[in-house]
Amino acid sequence: MCGIFGIFNAEYAERYAFYGIYALQHRGQESVGIAVSNFEDIKVVKKPGLVLESVRKEDLESLSGYNAIAHVRYSTAGDSGGLNSQPIVRDTSLGRVAVVHNGNLVNYIPLRAELEEKGLRFVHTSDTELFLTLLEEGENLPEGIDLHPSDVEVLPRVFHALSRVRGAYSLLFLFKDKLIAVRDPMGFRPLLMGRLKDAVLFASESCAFDILQAELWREVKPGEVVVADAQGIRSYFPFKSEKKAMCIFELVYFSKPESFVFDSWVYRARKRMGELLAYEDEVLAETVVPVPDSGLVPALGYAQAKGLPLELGLIRNHYVGRSFIEPTQALRDIKVLMKLNPNRAVLEGKRVVVIDDSLVRGTTSKKIVNMLRRAGAKEVHMRIASPPVVGPCYYGIDTPTREELIANRMELEDIRRFIGADSLKYLSLESLRSVVESPQDFCDACFSNHYPLEVEGTAFRMR
Ligand code: SF4
Repeated sequence: MCGIFGIFNAEYAERYAFYGIYALQHRGQESVGIAVSNFEDIKVVKKPGLVLESVRKEDLESLSGYNAIAHVRYSTAGDSGGLNSQPIVRDTSLGRVAVVHNGNLVNYIPLRAELEEKGLRFVHTSDTELFLTLLEEGENLPEGIDLHPSDVEVLPRVFHALSRVRGAYSLLFLFKDKLIAVRDPMGFRPLLMGRLKDAVLFASESCAFDILQAELWREVKPGEVVVADAQGIRSYFPFKSEKKAMCIFELVYFSKPESFVFDSWVYRARKRMGELLAYEDEVLAETVVPVPDSGLVPALGYAQAKGLPLELGLIRNHYVGRSFIEPTQALRDIKVLMKLNPNRAVLEGKRVVVIDDSLVRGTTSKKIVNMLRRAGAKEVHMRIASPPVVGPCYYGIDTPTREELIANRMELEDIRRFIGADSLKYLSLESLRSVVESPQDFCDACFSNHYPLEVEGTAFRMR
């Protein structure tokens, strides 16, 4: 769970990066960072918190340049504010380099131990730093790759770094005169390219291009390395993988509905999930209520397929900031009520189908069902527009541990009883897979327990 953005060859690149990364705020709220090059040097600003609240006008004025990368971070371990926030910048024998990363490496622990044994240094506790350390470790030029003259110095080092890591990584490297975009060979995380006049842009999701009025160009393909510099834009495929594993959870929940990722419009995929859920469902209800915001699009699909009215039975409060860790359950429950408010005008005396995108721990669903009942709903039928989450993610999405996942501990009927709904139904895995054109190219491990890539050593989960 992170968002990355990059732009090469634009006056005021730092400002484009600011707005571009703001559009990806939903992918991480813990910290924000922007690194900018003016072809001579690289400067960086990193702040804890939200983009709009944390980055000041003076910060942007101090950055001023033509090329930039930016990052928003969601952290689950380690230092969340300063040290591990990105971009990570280091002075190397190739000059100063900054890097941003979305994903998670599955061989971080053994690889870091091996590098430390060799005497290579680490400052951070995130797997992202590994890419910079590995730039110093060696060179690799796979057979059949013809390098453009201006790539001869840097790319064999980048290829070496990529040859050493395994896992999920969409990356942007910023050198003082080059921006290099990378997507791992299995394509776990999305990475898109855009164009704006003479500039080339990169982003985790296409919604970052919309805000800048840039044109969506294409996806960076799984295994592709794209170089942008004064000589133009070049593409290499140093390491291919027969197997792809694009994260289907991006379509279920993570990406914004207006985004285009993995060659799909998220909105269409999500709406289809709702339609399929409706076709699999026989419950008789009067009203369809989405859990905002992520349940809205599948609820629309569900309601249209059923010919039922979609009503806003839950209203989201948009002004929720941080809340404290409360000492009692009653106070903790208020946190959910801060975010959502039931709409009695819609709910009173009604049999409602409430649609959410996923059900992970079950605690929020329980509160929502309770909230709907207290607001007068006669029956509450919980429908989930994805299959039960049965396994954790090792590839960059912050799902809880296996033990915390309710579907891993309880049968369907027990979960229904736990959340207090009159009925409970999930979308089947088969239907979810049918939403995408080539399901064999997607990872669905957290729903199926079929992990496309094994973790080496201890699992490291950072983002
Ligand atoms: S395990 Fe789930 S969340 Fe992780 S990459 Fe696979 S589909 Fe996505």
